[in-house]
Amino acid sequence: MIHIGKTYIKREKSKSFLCSDVIINNNKITLWYSIDTEYENYLCINRADAFVMALLVQAMTFNHDIKCDDPISAKFKFFLTKQYIPTLSENIKPYHNIKIDSDITTEPYKNCGAVGVGFSAGSDSMYSVINNTKMTCKYPLTHIAVFNCVNFEKYEEESRNIFINNCKALQKFANQQKLKLVALDTNFYEELHWKFTNEIVSMRIISCALALQGLFSVYLVSSPSFTLEKFNLELEDSTRFDLLTINSASTESLSIYLSGAEADKVQKITQISDYEPSYKYLHSCFSSDEPGKKNCGTCKKCKDAQIILYALEKLDNYNAVYDTENFKKDLPKVIAYYLNRKDPIAKKIIKLLKENNIEIPEKSIAIAKQIEKVRDIMSKKIN
Ligand SMILES: [Zn+2]
Repeated sequence: MIHIGKTYIKREKSKSFLCSDVIINNNKITLWYSIDTEYENYLCINRADAFVMALLVQAMTFNHDIKCDDPISAKFKFFLTKQYIPTLSENIKPYHNIKIDSDITTEPYKNCGAVGVGFSAGSDSMYSVINNTKMTCKYPLTHIAVFNCVNFEKYEEESRNIFINNCKALQKFANQQKLKLVALDTNFYEELHWKFTNEIVSMRIISCALALQGLFSVYLVSSPSFTLEKFNLELEDSTRFDLLTINSASTESLSIYLSGAEADKVQKITQISDYEPSYKYLHSCFSSDEPGKKNCGTCKKCKDAQIILYALEKLDNYNAVYDTENFKKDLPKVIAYYLNRKDPIAKKIIKLLKENNIEIPEKSIAIAKQIEKVRDIMSKKIN
């Protein structure tokens, strides 16, 4: 059993904390979300919505029913118990069809009517900003959100420092775009240790949006760069079923939507390449931590972004965020890598190079053939 106690606010220095004392298997922990005190009214008090979402994977994995002292928004509880939990527990092996014992409330939570999107300056969230700040869009953005709710294999203290530095760097971007930035910290990775970050990432992000029901009436989740045809109920990667998670998380006052699932990485970066702020801020990298500083240039994300920008003849605009000279030095090898990769994005990248009449060097073709040959020999040896 997981018992989620009544929510309460605690103030410390210039921060306000939305807390709940939670008992998991007789162990008591206090979970919190924190924000600058001047924004305390954004925090959603007297509802268990955010905490339930944050604890759901834990509960389903270890077959813990959940009991809440605060009510849950009626719509959210309906989605959870009639749609989300039954679908996941039926299709993902370790998950159990748990019960939730709580009152419900149909009262919309009073909010500021803000429209937000999670923002890391990566290609998915950059694409969302571009497409949701136009005058004609349905939900014009008012806020970009930075949440500290997972640590990608980093030490806890290091993760919090990265969060603080990211907020500072992204505040400059927000000011330039006339958007507000809301920063929400949590103690999830200190208290809710979980081995596989990708398993829980979507639920934790949405729990942060639910914790800010005093602010948002609409929250957009930027879909990672694969299209809806790759929807899959996969334990290892919760972003694969974002569509289901998002459709299960709205409340009477907060609507959560998926943003950008209609475009793949090539389409997103093509659009981003016409957006000047991206020349300074694009942060599509697995290794580098801080937006506004140079990306590592060598990880898969960096390679993909650079080769697409190169194919579009826009790479030189990105000298501030990529070491473009270094990238060009290795170009024959990089292109060979894409000739060898068999996934749809690699094929699209090669097609883009050809469409834009960018020469594919003879050397790349020779390297690609050599790699293919070695691969054949290795697979015959294994078989
Ligand atoms: Zn990188």
